[in-house]
Amino acid sequence: MSGQPVIDLHRASFGYQGRPVVTDVDLQVARGEVLAVLGPNGSGKTTLVKGLLGLSEHLSGEASILGTPLDRLRDRTRVGYVPQRHTLVGGVRATVTEVVATGLLARRPWWRPAGRAERAAVEAALETVGLADRARFDVDTLSGGQQRRVLIARALVARPDVLIMDEPTAGVDQASQGVLAGVLQQLGEVGTTMLVVTHELAALRGVVDRILEVELGHLTYDGAPEGYAVHQAEQARSAGRGAA
Ligand code: ADP
Repeated sequence: MSGQPVIDLHRASFGYQGRPVVTDVDLQVARGEVLAVLGPNGSGKTTLVKGLLGLSEHLSGEASILGTPLDRLRDRTRVGYVPQRHTLVGGVRATVTEVVATGLLARRPWWRPAGRAERAAVEAALETVGLADRARFDVDTLSGGQQRRVLIARALVARPDVLIMDEPTAGVDQASQGVLAGVLQQLGEVGTTMLVVTHELAALRGVVDRILEVELGHLTYDGAPEGYAVHQAEQARSAGRGAA
């Protein structure tokens, strides 16, 4: 069981309305790996990670997550998601604790009030993202970076086995970037598998085990961070040759 990949894609394609955006993806991710997904805007990074969440269409090939084919995964709380460029909408009066607790709604019937274990889980998630002292604040009094941390806590509270984050550091202040790198490190140590779409690899240096690069709907690099610089240099050289 421990040898089984947490994410297992064979020639998988994902897209929208029957039209593929990312194609022929072969990818095996082991438990506890932290992957950065890089590549230019519009290359298909979000479509790929949304595919794993059932939010884009799985059009061909094989795709399993946690040992179960994507279309048969019933317990969606095992895969957490922090969506892209998302802060909390103004005008909604809710405390930090209330927002984080919504991450547990899928786990219990709506009519049952939160129990002690759930309250403790919310506190632990806020502790992890360094916002325990803001628990009772209204979310709209928090900075953009802090709001993203609230959303990460909301994804963490259900203790997902896989956590997918789309640009978690985009537009976030330095303090929140530092906290985020620490959160990823801690989660990796307890065996959470993570896929992080990002343009800011520097913010996650030392945390990321492996890099995926997506270009024009294809995986163009899958390997160690150390080898990625070499790959980029090679690409730049061949682009230079093409231009000459
Ligand atoms: P990236 O995350 O690398 O910036 P995306 O996966 O968001 O790239 O987008 C890749 C392509 O998929 C783009 O051409 C975009 O227009 C298209 N696309 C993204 N979302 C949708 C959607 N909901 N419906 C149809 N096409 C989409």
